[in-house]
Amino acid sequence: MNRTDKLVRANVRALVPYSSARDEYEGKEGVFLDANESPFGPLNRYPDPRQRELRAAISNLKGIAVENIFLGNGSDEVIDLCYRIFCNPGTDRAVIFPPTYGMYQVSAAVNDIEVIKVPLDENFDIDIPAVTPLLEDERIKLIFICSPNNPTGNCMETGRIEFLIRNFRGIVVLDEAYADFSGRPSFAEKIAQYDNLVVMQTFSKAMGLAAARVGMAFASPEILKYFFRMKPPYNISKLNQQAALERLNDFRPITVQTDTLIAERKRLSQKLEAIPLVEKVWPSDANFLLVRVKDADNVYNNLIANNIIVRNRSREVSGCLRITAGTRTENDRLIEELNKMSL
Ligand code: PMP
Repeated sequence: MNRTDKLVRANVRALVPYSSARDEYEGKEGVFLDANESPFGPLNRYPDPRQRELRAAISNLKGIAVENIFLGNGSDEVIDLCYRIFCNPGTDRAVIFPPTYGMYQVSAAVNDIEVIKVPLDENFDIDIPAVTPLLEDERIKLIFICSPNNPTGNCMETGRIEFLIRNFRGIVVLDEAYADFSGRPSFAEKIAQYDNLVVMQTFSKAMGLAAARVGMAFASPEILKYFFRMKPPYNISKLNQQAALERLNDFRPITVQTDTLIAERKRLSQKLEAIPLVEKVWPSDANFLLVRVKDADNVYNNLIANNIIVRNRSREVSGCLRITAGTRTENDRLIEELNKMSL
C-alpha cells in the first residue's frame, strides 16, 4: 500500500465505483441505446463523466498532465470530496488557519469532522510554531491552506507552505482560487514532487465563470484515483464543460481582464486610503481588499442601502469589510458613497 492508500478511509479504499454507460464507450458516434436517455436532442445525452476534452485543454494551458487533473462542481465539491475521501466521520480532524474561507469549516461540519483552528499570525501568515505540535496527530488527516487567503488577500510564505507539505503525514490541500491575481508561481508545479499535495484552482475568479461551477484539483494520479471513484458520475454538466472549453479556446481576454483587475485593485486601494472613515487597507495578492473602517456594521448597512454590496467580515477580522475589485465605474461608485458617509 502506498502512502495515499494508507491515508484513505477503509470504505473508500474498498469502494467499487458506479460504472456509467459512458465510462465504457469512449467513441462520439454510435447508436446509443445504453443509458436510458431520450433520443431527441439537443441536450439529451449524458456528458463525458471524465471531462476528457476540457481536461486536455486545461492540461495544454497549464502544462500539467491530464492524469494530474480532476474537475469538480466548483472547488466546493473538491473540498467536500477531500473530507469524504480522507476523514472518518466522528473521528478524524482537519486543521485550518482562520480567518479563512468559510467552506473548509462548513464542509467539515457536514461530514462530522472536527476542525482544529490555528489562527494566522499578526502578519496573516501561518503560525508554524503553533501548528508544528499537531503534525504528528494521527487523527489529523487534512490541512487546508488558502493562498492567497480569503479574506486577508495575502499569499502565505512559500517556505511555510513547503514546511507543512514536507512535515505533515497527511494531505495538504492548497487552495489557489485567487492565484491568477498574485503573479506568483503555482504549487501545481510541485505535485510530482509531493505525494501528499492537492492544489485547488477554479474557473470562478480570474476566469470569470462563477456561474458555470468548474473547480480544478491538481494532484498525483494515486490521489486523484479516489476523487474519480467518489464523485457523482456526471458531476460537470455538458453546458458547463462547454462554457469552460470556450473560455480556454479564447484565453487572451482573460489575461487582459486579470491585468485590468490588478490595476483596479491598486487604484481602489489608493482611493480607499484617502477616505477618512477608512482606517487600514491591507496589501492584496487577490481580486479583493481587506479594509478596516470605523463602525464596520454601519458602513456595511449604509452601502447596502445604496445598493452597493460588500462582504462584512467584521466578526472574523475586527472592524473589517472585504471589498472585491469591480470595474472602474463600480469602484468609483463605492468610493463616492464612502466619501459621502465620511462627511
Ligand atoms: N476557495 C476560495 C478561497 C474561495 O474564496 C471560493 C469562493 N469564494 C472558493 C474556493 C469556491 O470556489 P468555487 O466557485 O470554485 O466553488
